[in-house]
Amino acid sequence: MSKIILTGDRPTGRLHIGHYVGSLRRRVQLQNSGEYDKIFIMEADAQALTDNADNPEKIRQNIVEVALDYLSVGLDPKVSTLFIQSQIAELTELAFYYMNLVTVSRLQRNPTVKTEIKMRNFEANIPVGFFTYPISQASDITAFKATTVPVGEDQAPMLEQTIEIVRRFNNIYGPTLVEPKILLPDNAACLRLPGIDGKAKMSKSLGNCIYLSEDPKDLAQKVREMYTDPTHLRVEDPGHTEGNVVFTYLDAFCSDEQVNAMFPEYAGLEEMKAHYRKGGLGDMKTKKLLLAVLEEELAPIRARRAELQKDIPYVLEVLRKGSEVAREAAAQTLSEVRHSMRIDYFGDSKLG
Ligand code: ATP
Ligand code: MG
Repeated sequence: MSKIILTGDRPTGRLHIGHYVGSLRRRVQLQNSGEYDKIFIMEADAQALTDNADNPEKIRQNIVEVALDYLSVGLDPKVSTLFIQSQIAELTELAFYYMNLVTVSRLQRNPTVKTEIKMRNFEANIPVGFFTYPISQASDITAFKATTVPVGEDQAPMLEQTIEIVRRFNNIYGPTLVEPKILLPDNAACLRLPGIDGKAKMSKSLGNCIYLSEDPKDLAQKVREMYTDPTHLRVEDPGHTEGNVVFTYLDAFCSDEQVNAMFPEYAGLEEMKAHYRKGGLGDMKTKKLLLAVLEEELAPIRARRAELQKDIPYVLEVLRKGSEVAREAAAQTLSEVRHSMRIDYFGDSKLG
């Protein structure tokens, strides 16, 4: 069986380092591993509109921003198909059929959707489209016959929902859809990177992000203001490394060699953490290391972005071509789905 990747992001803002460690960095590794037959990377604009219906201009503006982020981290349009969800009408049709296979109470149990509803203060006024977006994600994944979906931990409930739909569909209509597997980051700190304010998740909607395109001055400012340990008042006080954002980010980005290069008194990160816990290590020092490490990672991304920004028509062409390729793949799956459902009245299994 072919190995196929599908994953994506909502174009609701520039991408941040949470996306990077949760999914983007992995995508680039998988792309460069040469082990995958096809790689589809989607800008989920239709999904973004489910909670931004009154602000289409925001989504429109961010289409190019996210594409710039993709290309500047190293996604290569010669290998990976970069496309825009709304340009693939077939995805909506698939979602419409899948809706018959999912109950309202099942959707209500989705923990990620529950949290997002609270976060957006939707409560009683949830747009139907938003409520059903896990079904639309199932159509995105299955339309491309994805076997592997590299995402952050918040997406696990969507994958479970997709697998249920696939099984139910295949059960009723015969084997047609492919069951995907989630691919989570292997480093615990990357599963769900917290925000710089210490909140559970770095998220565009929470405004607690470090963006991939962050300029050096803003980056330094954000690291300076970063949430650490409120009980660690003086350098000599014992401190907590758990729940301390600086250490979580160091876990996600920093190698032992980098620690040792800046502070030769530590062999690696664990020794530095032990010192912090015991007392005697100040936040200035931990933040200095973090800033250096982040700057090292982000500088080349920033530089590539600046180059790409000079040729926006090229970026748009990548998305246009990618959407064409993606549409063909989705159309093929849709025709198989219609066939299995016996609603291709005038095609292969025509009436009469
Ligand atoms: P929004 O607030 O618009 O939902 P978001 O910041 O949550 O934006 P998404 O576009 O919903 O970002 O997520 C895209 C991908 O990035 C998903 O695979 C998701 O799991 C991953 N991701 C997002 N935020 C984080 C994070 N803080 N840590 C790890 N992975 C993340
Ligand atoms: Mg999200």
